[in-house]
Amino acid sequence: MEPILILNKVSFKYKASWNLKSVDLRTYEGEILGVLGPNGSGKSTLLKVMDGVLQPQQGEVILRNRPLTSLRRTDVAREIAMVAQENFFRFSFSALEVVLMGRFPRLKRLQFEGEKDMEIALNALKATHSLHLWSRSIHEISGGEKQRVLLARTLAQEPKMILLDEPTSFLDLRHKRDIFRLISSLSGERKLGVVLVSHDMDLVAQYAHRIVMIKDGLILHEGSPEDVLTAENIEAVYECPVFVDTNPATGKPRVNLSP
Ligand code: ADP
Ligand code: MG
Repeated sequence: MEPILILNKVSFKYKASWNLKSVDLRTYEGEILGVLGPNGSGKSTLLKVMDGVLQPQQGEVILRNRPLTSLRRTDVAREIAMVAQENFFRFSFSALEVVLMGRFPRLKRLQFEGEKDMEIALNALKATHSLHLWSRSIHEISGGEKQRVLLARTLAQEPKMILLDEPTSFLDLRHKRDIFRLISSLSGERKLGVVLVSHDMDLVAQYAHRIVMIKDGLILHEGSPEDVLTAENIEAVYECPVFVDTNPATGKPRVNLSP
């Protein structure tokens, strides 16, 4: 299968020391790639490099055979949509306005959103169970509601790949499950490529097709959930004792903290 995005020996640093070190990675249509790693390991940095927000000092990022650096932001945005970890809105936009912003890369110059864009935005709100929030200010909804609205914005963008940076960190159990199921159906039905940073290891084990585990900017492990989520790997990367058994409902590895 043709990759969507290829990272070739990508290294990035904010200041003196490297925060990503010679990362080789590919993403594919219809695949959910889980990204795990402790706080500060470089997960958000990796996603920003994949989205072209940050440009690596070494190596290259290739989107559909073209270097990311040669593409305009709107060209990238038609292929890749991201929900960043921090999201700040200067103005008190409504949830619907925020989702309509996802249509921007799809519009022609100086064109306003039309009926079709509105329909796509409303469908995206529906898909993330946030239609009832449409008129609410993005400043006045809960963290979990905001995460769902931001996911709706990426859907409205109609990209080939979505990059999600801890999209369920503020969500309760039901909404976590809903979002993972939605991500899973998007990758299955729309063949969307998904890169998912999350600390919900059991959900990642259940839904990701492939997992990379990073520490100090290095990919230390890559493979199936069964291959990557071993007690040995997790203890070494997270410096925390765990035991891993099998989730009886899913047959996938289940990570438990040792007492
Ligand atoms: P993660 O998402 O895995 O928690 P990040 O990618 O946010 O980690 O950060 C990786 C490393 O880069 C950390 O050591 C962090 O302190 C550093 N870092 C992140 N953003 C910046 C920045 N804007 N300027 C300088 N250092 C940064
Ligand atoms: Mg982060």
